[in-house]
Amino acid sequence: MQANIVLLPGDGIGPEVVAAAIKVLKALETRFGHTFSFSEHMIGGCSIDASGKSLTDETLKACQAADAVLLGAVGGPKWDDPKANERPEKGLLALRKGLAVFANLRPVKVYPNLVDASPLRPEKLAGVDMMVVRELTGGLYFGEPKGREQIDGRTRAVDTMAYWDDEIRRIVDMAFQLARGRRKKVTSVDKANVLESSRLWRQVTAEVATGYPDIKLENMLVDTASMRLVSNPSEFDVVVTENMFGDILTDEAAVLTGSMGLLPSASLGSGGPGLYEPIHGSAPDIAGKGIANPVGTILSSAFMLRYSLKLEKEASSIEAAVEKTIAGGHLTADLGGTATTSEVTETILANL
Ligand code: NAD
Repeated sequence: MQANIVLLPGDGIGPEVVAAAIKVLKALETRFGHTFSFSEHMIGGCSIDASGKSLTDETLKACQAADAVLLGAVGGPKWDDPKANERPEKGLLALRKGLAVFANLRPVKVYPNLVDASPLRPEKLAGVDMMVVRELTGGLYFGEPKGREQIDGRTRAVDTMAYWDDEIRRIVDMAFQLARGRRKKVTSVDKANVLESSRLWRQVTAEVATGYPDIKLENMLVDTASMRLVSNPSEFDVVVTENMFGDILTDEAAVLTGSMGLLPSASLGSGGPGLYEPIHGSAPDIAGKGIANPVGTILSSAFMLRYSLKLEKEASSIEAAVEKTIAGGHLTADLGGTATTSEVTETILANL
């Protein structure tokens, strides 16, 4: 297989963890006889420094023409001024929009020997294995009208939560498809007791469910879901929800695993290149120290092989090597270990 992969290392620990993932992909390339061509571009703070824009047209075009995009992280204190016109996250939102990736998949799995790294008691964590599917291009983050206005000396700010039925249908359908390959349960999270957009969400979800009689559908209010995620997390299989609810719930779910550094994500559309990135940010507090956990990005590259390149065997081999590495106690500082980024990466390579 020949594949064109665009790398967007970004800021902070981004370049460190992307470099680790490239090593793993190169090892697989040799072992399985594939040809991956990598081309590197800028996004986020480094791109603002170089060109004044957090995402240039040239970078977006390269990503749109690729088979898949692997991103590190963007942002940092240098670009944090809330009054600045151009912020690193703007580039990330524009990239998601430009690639039309409407679904963000985030698995949350607890590794048995890491239960002590989690803030929950070990007995709460047995069997936790869920996939959160978050809508990514609609809802409160994109709805119009949006902005501020001055009225009689007062300032008013407005955001709008809006969804089209087809936007809901395509993401809920993806959740049902994923559930077929898992434990066959979908929990759709909304706020249908208050929000009209949630009532439409629930209606469309019920329609989609009729096409999947083998899958159990459960509707849950977002406040209940946030509570159940910590009181009984093993009940969830596939969770599907709108953009902002998903943003919040996925971070809550992530801490169950013990570290943000462990978790991958995939952002998928219909047909175009997928965007793969760890869920963590640029971690400026540890950038440049060589101690960042590379697992989230390495597992993101496994997702890339699975969902964009359809290389299931190769994806599973990365996941198995990561599992063995963690079980062997090769852990970075975020998980209470002493291993460096490169030591963990080398161990994963040895376990491949
Ligand atoms: P963060 O995820 O960068 O860091 C939170 C904490 O987790 C820090 O203590 C950090 O050291 C630790 N951490 C995160 N990833 C780690 C890893 N791989 N290995 C070891 N430890 C890790 O979140 P933050 O501190 O809120 O944000 C820092 C910057 O990142 C901000 O500028 C923010 O806007 C940006 N950010 C970017 C993204 C993205 O690129 N997708 C996501 C979230 C935050």
